[in-house]
Amino acid sequence: MIPSFGASFSALLLVFGMASTAFADPCARLYSQILLVGERPPKLTDAQYRAYLDGMRRDLEGFKSPDFGLYLGIDDPAYVPQANSVYAPSNLFRSATSGKEHPANYELALLDHEIGHALYETNFPHRGLGRDALAQRIHVTERKVLAIEAELNEVLRASVPDSMKLSSILELQRRGAEPFRELQALRKAEWLTDGLRELFSDLVPALRQGDPQVIEKSSRAYAWLARVHQSNPGIRTEYRSRGFNRDWDADSLRKLLNPNEKNPAKPAGDPHVYFAPIRRALWQALEPAFNSPDRGRVLSRLYKVITDYERELFPDVASYSRQDIDIGRVNLELLKRVQAEFKNLG
Ligand SMILES: [Zn+2]
Repeated sequence: MIPSFGASFSALLLVFGMASTAFADPCARLYSQILLVGERPPKLTDAQYRAYLDGMRRDLEGFKSPDFGLYLGIDDPAYVPQANSVYAPSNLFRSATSGKEHPANYELALLDHEIGHALYETNFPHRGLGRDALAQRIHVTERKVLAIEAELNEVLRASVPDSMKLSSILELQRRGAEPFRELQALRKAEWLTDGLRELFSDLVPALRQGDPQVIEKSSRAYAWLARVHQSNPGIRTEYRSRGFNRDWDADSLRKLLNPNEKNPAKPAGDPHVYFAPIRRALWQALEPAFNSPDRGRVLSRLYKVITDYERELFPDVASYSRQDIDIGRVNLELLKRVQAEFKNLG
């Protein structure tokens, strides 16, 4: 999960507002520092967290270190690019029946997922493109659409006969058509590029724990804890779409991939669902490689395949307004590239 700016800001407030216990670390590895900011003791000790993160470096050959600040004890996991900070829970999951603490696997899966986001953003090789460039373009286009909407409201409110308003209304509709179309295309590009990030970030814990279901199980447990099931029927689709061992029947696939499908269980534009159809096949291509002697470079090679493909889909800023991207085709093309990259490993 990468939160919006509003969420980032509140997360920062939370960090600075809470009593913190510093585990200062002078030597930058994967992280610049680890801070425990939650009130409950973490399931792992400081030394165990350090050993865990240092061990992770062995799976990250080819990446430059994100050098993030890690804040533990935050139950709402996030990576905040503006602050290069990872927030992760450290004592969240326990048995719903006995209340006993689960082992730390789920918390670590969420931590690994956020580290995946940190790796993606801090290693992104295409200057002037990517998440920030797209967000900036969305911001500018939203302003244009809002300005035209404001003008339109002014015309509608004006105390002149309706017949005199018609030409102004038509003119504003004409001027608004292109920015509105552009905004829809940009949002689709945002979901798609976020989808690539979520896919990569979900593969980090799945491969490291050797469990294709771990991120699905963690997000399901997380959704139950947050009690979002009752209010949001799309949540079930979201966590089911994150498993790497599911077969999707043709009808579910069609619904999932069709942006116009009226499916109340589909969270609109949720980036986690975009690459659900190929997750099982990706796992089959990657798992043998991750268990081979070449394990250390698997994630960086996968990252290169994904970011090269992102660059091909969006070679420049103008291409973020493209209309012709078909999510089904993008799924199959990405799968083909990953399979080609890893066919000789394992
Ligand atoms: Zn995420």
